[in-house]
Amino acid sequence: MYAMRRWSARHSSILKTLYHQLENLLVKLYPRFEKIGIQKIEKPLMFIEKPTKSFFFDSQSCGQCTLGSTGMSCPMNCPKTIRNGPCGGVRANGKCEVKPEMDCVWVVAWEGTQHLKPEERAIQIVQPMLDWRLKGKSAWLRAAEQKVRELRS
Ligand code: SF4
Repeated sequence: MYAMRRWSARHSSILKTLYHQLENLLVKLYPRFEKIGIQKIEKPLMFIEKPTKSFFFDSQSCGQCTLGSTGMSCPMNCPKTIRNGPCGGVRANGKCEVKPEMDCVWVVAWEGTQHLKPEERAIQIVQPMLDWRLKGKSAWLRAAEQKVRELRS
């Protein structure tokens, strides 16, 4: 829902904190997930993740969440799915050149970033190319997996 998407960017600070807490919880649970089998966890986790992220962010379930770096504005709502800053067509009023009825997702991302503490702002981190094989998979699980790998190394 578009209104909710805008709300989420305005409340990026609290949502980022909640995301951080969720990540910590999933990292704690990860050894149990491994015992059960990561593949088996994917589906039940997506049962929660997909509607939650759809509601708050109009998430497109790309499986590689950038919300923590983009002021809680999902770049997959950009009609060009640009993941590293706006195209050259943003209108003077901040609206999208392709869909003038909506604000450019990168204008929203910038606004969302301003609500974060300076040390939490990560909008200038370059995002890797999208791996389409992960579309529809749990980005929460991928984030926990990456964190666990870092902690174990
Ligand atoms: S104006 Fe913004 S949302 Fe629209 S296509 Fe360009 S980058 Fe994407």
